[in-house]
Amino acid sequence: MRKLVLATKNLGKIAEFERLLSEFTPDIKVLGLSDFPDMPEVVESGKTLNENARLKAKAICEFTKLPALADDSGLFIDALAGQPGIYSARWAGFEGVDAKMRDLANINKALEELKDVPKGSRGAQFRSVVAFCRQNLDSSFLEKDELGVLAGQILTQPIGSAGFGYDPIFLPDQFDQSLAQLPPRVKDEVSHRGIALRAIAPFLRDHL
Ligand code: IMP
Repeated sequence: MRKLVLATKNLGKIAEFERLLSEFTPDIKVLGLSDFPDMPEVVESGKTLNENARLKAKAICEFTKLPALADDSGLFIDALAGQPGIYSARWAGFEGVDAKMRDLANINKALEELKDVPKGSRGAQFRSVVAFCRQNLDSSFLEKDELGVLAGQILTQPIGSAGFGYDPIFLPDQFDQSLAQLPPRVKDEVSHRGIALRAIAPFLRDHL
């Protein structure tokens, strides 16, 4: 069975990737970073989602000697010139480890920054870049990435409790419910990560 290492310790994310990839290749064993406890933390020093996703995938590929897949995502708000973008995870400066508190601080910051922005001008996109890296027989690296975008609007208050991050204040185009109100399967189908993953899956099938 072919192996692929994902740049995450999150079991939910691993299950999501495994589910999506199995549509294309039934014989992939997906590993996570918990399977490589000695792997050093990768510093996300890139200036774009693309750079960060690629540097994570390459670092894991070099360390594990196995093909690797990494994603980097963020929320880009039109009225804030694309902020928080690559800084979405820690935008509000919350330093603790409690992800729920961090998400809440980020949501409150977004609502505060947009408090004078009217409904028609609250457009935003979630963007995700999924990057693949594999070492060739001659030791060079084969790299590939794909972008997925989910467009929508920032709501004026949080609604719903599913999902994570900015889901409760994001109303995807074509829906009348926030991302945090949609069942996970539906989110998988329309999400930026789902789109990017489905785009890269045929390449994985051919190059793993
Ligand atoms: P990551 O690159 O997937 O870790 O995402 C970085 C940050 O972007 C997360 O910590 C969230 O704040 C935000 N984000 C990315 N994807 C989503 C999503 O699907 N829903 C809500 N927030 C997201």
